[in-house]
Amino acid sequence: MLEQQNVARLISAYGGTLVNLMVNGEERQEWIEKSSRLPVVQISPRSLCDLELLATGAFSPLTRFMGKADYQRVLNEMRLESGTLFPMPVTLSLDPKVLEGGVEQVVLSDARNNRLAVMQIEEAYEWNADEEAQLVLGTTDPRHPLVAEMKRWGKVYVSGAIKMLELPRYHDFINLRRTPAEVREMLTEMGHENVVAFQTRNPMHRIHEELTKRAAEEVNGSLLIHPVVGMTKPGDVDHFTRVRIYRALVENYYDQKQTLLSLLPLAMRMAGPREAVWHAIIRRNFGATHFIIGRDHAGPGKDSNGKPFYGPYDAQMLLAQHAPEIGVQPVEFKELVYLADAERYEEANKVPEGTKIFTISGTQVREDYLAKGKQLPEWFTRKETSDILQQMYPPREQQGICIWFTGLSGAGKSTTAEILVSMLLERGRQITLLDGDVVRTHLSKGLGFSREDRDANILRIGYVSSEIARHGGLVITAAISPYLSTRTEVRKLVGDERFIEVFVDTPIEVCEERDVKGMYAKARQGIITGFTGVDDPYEPPVNPEITLDTVNFTPEQNAANIVRYLEVNGYLPLATPPMGLSRAN
Ligand code: ADP
Ligand code: ADP
Repeated sequence: MLEQQNVARLISAYGGTLVNLMVNGEERQEWIEKSSRLPVVQISPRSLCDLELLATGAFSPLTRFMGKADYQRVLNEMRLESGTLFPMPVTLSLDPKVLEGGVEQVVLSDARNNRLAVMQIEEAYEWNADEEAQLVLGTTDPRHPLVAEMKRWGKVYVSGAIKMLELPRYHDFINLRRTPAEVREMLTEMGHENVVAFQTRNPMHRIHEELTKRAAEEVNGSLLIHPVVGMTKPGDVDHFTRVRIYRALVENYYDQKQTLLSLLPLAMRMAGPREAVWHAIIRRNFGATHFIIGRDHAGPGKDSNGKPFYGPYDAQMLLAQHAPEIGVQPVEFKELVYLADAERYEEANKVPEGTKIFTISGTQVREDYLAKGKQLPEWFTRKETSDILQQMYPPREQQGICIWFTGLSGAGKSTTAEILVSMLLERGRQITLLDGDVVRTHLSKGLGFSREDRDANILRIGYVSSEIARHGGLVITAAISPYLSTRTEVRKLVGDERFIEVFVDTPIEVCEERDVKGMYAKARQGIITGFTGVDDPYEPPVNPEITLDTVNFTPEQNAANIVRYLEVNGYLPLATPPMGLSRAN
């Protein structure tokens, strides 16, 4: 091996590299022409997941990022150019600058610069985010997690043959990470003709145990528990926590001879019906003959108007139409609920009227139990699951949060934020204040006010905030943050539950009258350009957690209202009443 490496190094000195290649799951050695001199493109975590699944055959028959003909037909008809059913675009976006000067090959690398593949640029084409979102997701609402993300993708998609240099490296749960070929082999060894696969992106509770066990019994075969560990919906329980739960459950409550737990590095799109069809195709490639599909499969939650993006059984209907073509039979479930008196689970449509039923939603798990440090009931989840969740999700008042002020210049963000900081310090919390003006003197020094620079500034503040909040800290930001999609991106980065958006809703006339820094006057005279509210847009929040009125209320009153919001929502323990006063007063 050492010798081989030396040879490779020697040759690379002459402008080429001898590498171990993975081609369609098989390893072989090949000479890569001057790959060391090719442009290196760092691909996103999403594209990294896609690349791996293309390379291992999980997206079969697709083996490359889609070219225009495939892409267009997938958007419009859910089919590849060849006619094969494939409901989801799998594309690689690039900044067109990378291709300047007629680049023919690029090296694809991960964020740590590990070189993963060499890709031939056979095609580059423009795409339209709104068109893609509308056709694939059925919406352009920025509350859809993929819609917000798509705005940041490169302007062109590229396609061409891919040679893998190595598969992405993992250091966690490596004995549960397997290629489709490896999974198929293990399932064959189990010896059952039928295999039912279970997709999940959530911790498994008793309801999921019930779904999976019923399904395995129904098909009289093996069960493939196949959780997604690539990218799921922002704010989901992280995969480290989830996999510990799956592992504990499979060890303690499932028939080992019939159950296989394997991890899937898929980047979910949260596309509901189309995603369900895609999931079934992927599981067929892993050797499944059946696929569990329940309520609201791959649903992204609610839109800006509070309405679910997809109907609860839309995914079942679309998969049912296409299942014969895929060669995977759906095992459908209506919503399962717990019958309190009979102490068992049942599908909601089979429950007689008037029966006492119990349900706990994912949101309730987080808000009514974990956030309050309350034990989850035994009928709902196994003790192993509850213990792991409680360890990872301490009560809300010990968790980190980000209080994100947004509003026009002079609206009163900094003034209110500073008062809030003092009030919270008095309550014994450590706080970081990231003020837009101050941040521009260090973290974002050198950035201007073009749309790109403003976005970069906000994303930097967002990134730092997400780290602080993730580690249990309290961070307050005060920056104009004028663009809706950028704030949505930041919300995603920080996590919805930790993100408290405070819209300082001061009318522009009032801000202009205050004109603290004399900026409005300069903007009106044209001395400065691109000033928010004058010749650059301010896009107000759609559903902010808090809206402040600075015309009728003082900064002190507004800060006190935010403190009250934190108390009512469990982020801050209730204040001890002053001596001699009872709370009833
Ligand atoms: P996703 O569908 O986004 O992967 P989950 O991990 O919550 O999200 O769901 C995994 C599978 O279990 C899906 O097929 C889903 O429809 C099904 N499921 C989850 N909860 C229920 C329930 N209460 N009743 C019926 N099916 C459910
Ligand atoms: P921003 O940080 O939003 O650019 P600043 O807080 O720096 O705004 O400036 C707001 C200005 O408006 C300050 O001079 C402040 O004293 C004044 N002001 C008047 N009334 C209020 C109020 N109710 N809330 C906040 N600021 C107010």
